[in-house]
Amino acid sequence: LLEARGLRKSFGAHEVLRGVDLTVRRGEVVALIGPSGSGKTTVLRSLNGLETPDAGTLELTGGPSLDFAEPVPKARRFALRDRSAMVFQHHNLFPHMTVLQNVIEGPTQVRRVPRAAAVVRAEALLARVGLADKRDAYPHQLSGGQQQRVGIVRALALSPDLLLFDEPTSALDPELVGEVLTVMKELADEGWTMVVVTHELAFARAVADEVLFLDGGVVVERGTPARLFTQPAEERTRRFLHRLL
Ligand code: ATP
Repeated sequence: LLEARGLRKSFGAHEVLRGVDLTVRRGEVVALIGPSGSGKTTVLRSLNGLETPDAGTLELTGGPSLDFAEPVPKARRFALRDRSAMVFQHHNLFPHMTVLQNVIEGPTQVRRVPRAAAVVRAEALLARVGLADKRDAYPHQLSGGQQQRVGIVRALALSPDLLLFDEPTSALDPELVGEVLTVMKELADEGWTMVVVTHELAFARAVADEVLFLDGGVVVERGTPARLFTQPAEERTRRFLHRLL
């Protein structure tokens, strides 16, 4: 579904990505793990056009295809954004809108879905994550875990080909992490294609098809969770896992 090659990105003199390759097949869950500042979030943001790499290529089956060595036309960047939806660390819900309004905003404003159809779909998705009765609540009336589940529903409502998760549980109280991971696992089981930046190694191990370990802006090692977590080939991976497991 997605093929990224040689992604590079600097912020000033700081080279954050130093040639990252990433392949995501349809229906697959790819987890990005690695120490703070290793570039995981920057990779993720590059996949949907929130960040523009300095070099490298990005190709999505069915388009668009981008070469960052040249200026990327706006239309192609928007085409890239249209294919995916992102769930952020902080849910980024609009505080002055109800749950339902938050969920239908993207479909109606960006995707031009008629309001009635967007509402029907939003209600079905909210029911699926156990939040049917919260449709008229405002974000501040929900727990952090509920807010994040709305954040996930808002992404699903866009019917993306690719779901991107940027540490969706790291801002949550520990007792609320489970409910969000459960929803994510269900989505994976349903066949959604997902790229997940996470510090939840147990989740990556249980759900991911492939795990990429990033350090210093490069993919140090990649593999199935079964292999990478039990027999890391690289010393740097071993040290990172050892600290966390
Ligand atoms: P974390 O787990 O802490 O979120 P990460 O692996 O996701 O880390 P990134 O968020 O991709 O890492 O950031 C990599 C580096 O790039 C960090 O040192 C960060 O300070 C820097 N960086 C990210 N975005 C910007 C920006 N817009 N301007 C300047 N520096 C940035």
